[in-house]
Amino acid sequence: MSSAAREPIPFVDLGTQKLRIRAEVDAAIARVLDHGQFIMGPEVAELEAQLAAHCGAQHAVACSSGTDALAMVLMAKNVRPGQAIFCPAFTFVATAEVVAWLGAQVWFVDVDADTFNIDPASLETAIADARAAGHEPVGVIPVDLFGIPADYDAVSKIAAREKMWVLGDAAQAYGARYHNRRVGTLALATATSFFPAKPLGAYGDGGAIFTDDSELADTLRSILFHGKGANQYDNVRVGMTGRIDTMQAAVLIEKLKIFDDEIEARNRIAARYTALLKDHVTTPVVPEGVQSVWAQYTVKLPASVDRDAIQAKLRDDGVPSAVYYAKPLHRQEAYSHYGIAGGSLPVTDRLAETVLSLPMHPYLDEDTQDRVVAALISAL
Ligand SMILES: *Cc1c(COP(=O)(O)O)cnc(C)c1O
Repeated sequence: MSSAAREPIPFVDLGTQKLRIRAEVDAAIARVLDHGQFIMGPEVAELEAQLAAHCGAQHAVACSSGTDALAMVLMAKNVRPGQAIFCPAFTFVATAEVVAWLGAQVWFVDVDADTFNIDPASLETAIADARAAGHEPVGVIPVDLFGIPADYDAVSKIAAREKMWVLGDAAQAYGARYHNRRVGTLALATATSFFPAKPLGAYGDGGAIFTDDSELADTLRSILFHGKGANQYDNVRVGMTGRIDTMQAAVLIEKLKIFDDEIEARNRIAARYTALLKDHVTTPVVPEGVQSVWAQYTVKLPASVDRDAIQAKLRDDGVPSAVYYAKPLHRQEAYSHYGIAGGSLPVTDRLAETVLSLPMHPYLDEDTQDRVVAALISAL
């Protein structure tokens, strides 16, 4: 084998994108250095306007991270102890972490075996279980896992009946589509992350909240600046430091210009992976009317294979892989005391043992895709 063929493949390659936009990013950063408004500079409002226009939400509130975006919505909704918030257990820890911050009760819900997203039937079970435990159901946080929007129609129907709010955790799915609407318009509020490796990533931490509710947007702008009222030295509520840096906003404005093109590339690559892998593993299922942004391309391995051994063989071939998530949240020490829908989450537990995420980014060329595919088939 030639040395080029054995060169390690990056799991997420941010370098090729950087080459593409380097001159524009350098100029954007230089403009921030020149004007010197490092906090709440003009780029922040400009980014917010562009994001709102891009996804179709009335308001985009840029902030410090995806985690803070989630937390600030919970703060705005006055979440408190005794209240129950529902979220899938098969997600990144931040989804449940923010509920714990506010002392409310997390209730873990199982996920759909095909989409890996919150299972509406399990949500119904969790709501009944929470009530029986004396907790007041107030909100649900569906997660758009790996870039595929959750089943918002089903979740919203249940939430409306229960008079609960819906907060979308779209940290992995900004840009995705759901029946001709974009993520950011599918819930009362939607939180996203601009962590560098997310589909729309900054060069540091960042996030945003989308909503059509003007009062909520105003409250969030207050919370992210220490609960400011008329000015930052007038504190009308308890807030935090939740602002995005002007520098990151400037970077994101440049990245947003090429983002739709990158989403197309991700979809092209995912379709090719699926065509080449569908006879060997269970390839991702994208529901009718939905477009993913492929934060991850995640397959399910046959239950009989040793995933660690597969990953080791891939590594030998220079092909990185990752397991999101080997230890679901209801099995994490810090979260094991919270409620579980129906007492067990069988789909979550099965997925945790069988999923495998492959290299995915918009600049993955066909030769590299072929190397990943060949390595996986040979490892199997
Ligand atoms: C990345 C992620 C977050 C947190 O975003 P940060 O910007 O890293 O704080 C929250 N939820 C999910 C599902 C994520 O993948």
